[in-house]
Amino acid sequence: MNTLLTILHRTGFANGSFSNRIARTHANITFTHCRGGFIRLLATALIFITPASYGESISEQAQRLADDLIIADTHIDAPFRLTRDYQDLTQATPRGEFNFSQAQTGGLDAAFMSIYIPAKHQTEGGAKALANQLIDSVEAMVGRAPQSFAMGLSVQQVRDNHKNGLVSLAMGIENGAAIEGELSNLKHFYERGIRYITLTHGKANLISDSSYDEHRPWGGISPFGGKVITEMNNLGIMIDISHLSDEAAFQAVKLSNVPVIATHSSIRKFIPGFERNMDDALLKALAKKGGVIQINFGSGFIDNQSRNWQNKYRDLRKVYLAENNLDRFSPQAKQFAADYRKQNPFPYAPIERVVDHIDHVRDTVGIEHVGFGSDFDGVGDTLPTGLKTVAQYPALIEALLKRGYSETQIEQIASGNLLRVWQQAEDYSKAH
Ligand SMILES: [Zn+2]
Repeated sequence: MNTLLTILHRTGFANGSFSNRIARTHANITFTHCRGGFIRLLATALIFITPASYGESISEQAQRLADDLIIADTHIDAPFRLTRDYQDLTQATPRGEFNFSQAQTGGLDAAFMSIYIPAKHQTEGGAKALANQLIDSVEAMVGRAPQSFAMGLSVQQVRDNHKNGLVSLAMGIENGAAIEGELSNLKHFYERGIRYITLTHGKANLISDSSYDEHRPWGGISPFGGKVITEMNNLGIMIDISHLSDEAAFQAVKLSNVPVIATHSSIRKFIPGFERNMDDALLKALAKKGGVIQINFGSGFIDNQSRNWQNKYRDLRKVYLAENNLDRFSPQAKQFAADYRKQNPFPYAPIERVVDHIDHVRDTVGIEHVGFGSDFDGVGDTLPTGLKTVAQYPALIEALLKRGYSETQIEQIASGNLLRVWQQAEDYSKAH
């Protein structure tokens, strides 16, 4: 039997790596029927299997992996984007970085829709209402296309949806301001399907300080924020430390009873001084607790040249908008951006830069602590060359293969690590 297992392993049978699902179904049926019949099984295996090592190119291998593995992406800003530029994402769409057709092409299985609450709602109000409205819009997508999408409310549901060929829409709230200072709203949002909350966004809120905000009233997490973390643990809502100040992130890791995630952050080493990304000390604290960093793909998060371009552009735009009393979404602001880009072409990062960040996590804390958190639909026209929409996940997998990552390691990065942490959050909640 050992020889047979070796052959099966070599041919990709034992780890389920077939080039199409029909072949897998055939082989499985045959396996069951021939349990005692070694020769017949061997013959069947050799007939039906198209192995990775026999004639499959690296890009075919990448496409096969993208099709077969569960790929999870913990941060896609589609719901908020649609409030400004509505399109039906159950169809192929002319604009945007996520829709069903692109998800199918790219093999994306668990797409976390970001329920993004801009910081202005912390002073103007309406945060909870906006969160409810954005959640409604995600449910509407599933309601309109139940043959394409399904809600992804648990690890098991994500796995079942993948088996049934459905793209899971999971949800996370970006900015805990959505709970409007009421702990009871955590239960409300859990019941509405929210499975992670980014404690704050661009400004300090009632829960936490922010990496983008020099005003730091709490020196990390507020006393109320501590209660929020405990209640999130009890409910089974994962804690997202992306956007937090360093102090807040360290405290959140410590205060949480289960591993935490950074849903869309990258590595600070590549952009020195950029607190929005994680430094090695924070990365080590996150990993020690068992957590995961999901790498943000935006060029400005992964490449220093791109970040410098963005900083310079933002400073100039700020002056222009102030001088002309304009909103950043105004047509004039759009024209300003277009003119600036024409004269100063944006330095897009190469797709390999994303892999550099994954390498760094692997080398610093181990491969069990990294995944994908693209920020598609949230970082504007700054995505790396060859990684412009969710349809291009196979290209990223190909880049990982070329860097020497094994299929097992790619599965860990693509979703295994995240699903492990999510499962831990579920298990803890069941026991509390
Ligand atoms: Zn964000």
